[in-house]
Amino acid sequence: MGPRSRDTRKKIKKLMSSINSRSITEGKTLLFVPEQLEPVKYPSFFNSRGKYVRDVSIICYRAYAETLKENGAFGGKLSFADPLCGTGARGVRVANELPDLYDRVFLNDISPSSIALAKRSAAENGVERKCFFTQEEACAFLLTRGPGGDRFDAVDVDPFGTPSPYVDCALRATKQGGMLSVSATDTAVLCGVYPKVAQRKYLGSPLRTDYAHEIGLRLIFGLLSMTAMRFEASIMPLFCHHDMHYFRAYCLVQIGNSLSRQNEAQIGYALHCFRCAFRRIASREELASEIDKTCLNCPNCAASAMKVAGPLWAGKIQSQDFVATCAKFSELAIFKPESDLPLYYDLSEISDFMEIRTPKIADVMKELESAGHLTTRTRLNRNALRTAAPLPELQAVLARLSR
Ligand SMILES: [Zn+2]
Repeated sequence: MGPRSRDTRKKIKKLMSSINSRSITEGKTLLFVPEQLEPVKYPSFFNSRGKYVRDVSIICYRAYAETLKENGAFGGKLSFADPLCGTGARGVRVANELPDLYDRVFLNDISPSSIALAKRSAAENGVERKCFFTQEEACAFLLTRGPGGDRFDAVDVDPFGTPSPYVDCALRATKQGGMLSVSATDTAVLCGVYPKVAQRKYLGSPLRTDYAHEIGLRLIFGLLSMTAMRFEASIMPLFCHHDMHYFRAYCLVQIGNSLSRQNEAQIGYALHCFRCAFRRIASREELASEIDKTCLNCPNCAASAMKVAGPLWAGKIQSQDFVATCAKFSELAIFKPESDLPLYYDLSEISDFMEIRTPKIADVMKELESAGHLTTRTRLNRNALRTAAPLPELQAVLARLSR
């Protein structure tokens, strides 16, 4: 240990003496976290229930780097930025658990006590040399990486509540071809309890349906995409999921006018008929007139029968290749393959709607598959499936199996 690192350790020790902390192990990493068990914003934000979400993240960061390798685009090690790092759980884990892939990890937080804990965790895992700590407001930190600067290969925005105030700066700080991931914990807003708030924060309307969580994720991708288009950039969704109050969305960021135009074509709407539970995706052009909102499933619906969610990301919300790469490095069920069919059906809600008992999901899948309809489960809801079967056919299967 050289005199400089002895000095640093002394400083950390002094700062630490004023903070009540304990150590925990998450993944392969020892972390120092505040004494409080429940998430608190101050003095140092750490959410122990976020462990699973961070486990999933580590696999996604790895899959991103491995994809670059497969494409011959891995030019040495990568940089990772956590602009709202809290006590540094995410960043320190990246430095410690993905040492051959990420060699510069930037941890930023406005709170001095959070940074003190993050520094201690980094030192304890022997990764302090590759961790760079700053104490700035998140956007001020991100914008130190302008077009002339060295943008980050991967950026993760993990705020308390909505990521909306940070997406502009985060997109600007991500390299061409880099990966941006964001969290949102304002579940009630994204799931349609506060539609006005969603319109302000996500530029689109949510809808309280059985697939409200998918709408929420599409609103997040929609916001990212609509923000990126302002400066001729684009996004491509790689992966998304939610866990309790946590929404997570991962995307590739690319810069260029033609990609930005292609992004624009992916912005659309989700339409839902509350009379019959029919749902569909519609492009902006399709929704140009009122008549286009007519439900295609119930002929006697009034023209205004379908309710509209959006504007939102109407394209694919995952890359099947990316998910397959994740599955190479993880046994987690969340990385099982899933079809791209939009707007899943929650079987218990559809059955309630039909006033029947909910059949077993495996039986329903078997019936739909044997009738030749592409059908998969979804990582977004364990009681739901995605199917190419028309709604009346799904309902007939449910009715038959519920007897
Ligand atoms: Zn209808």
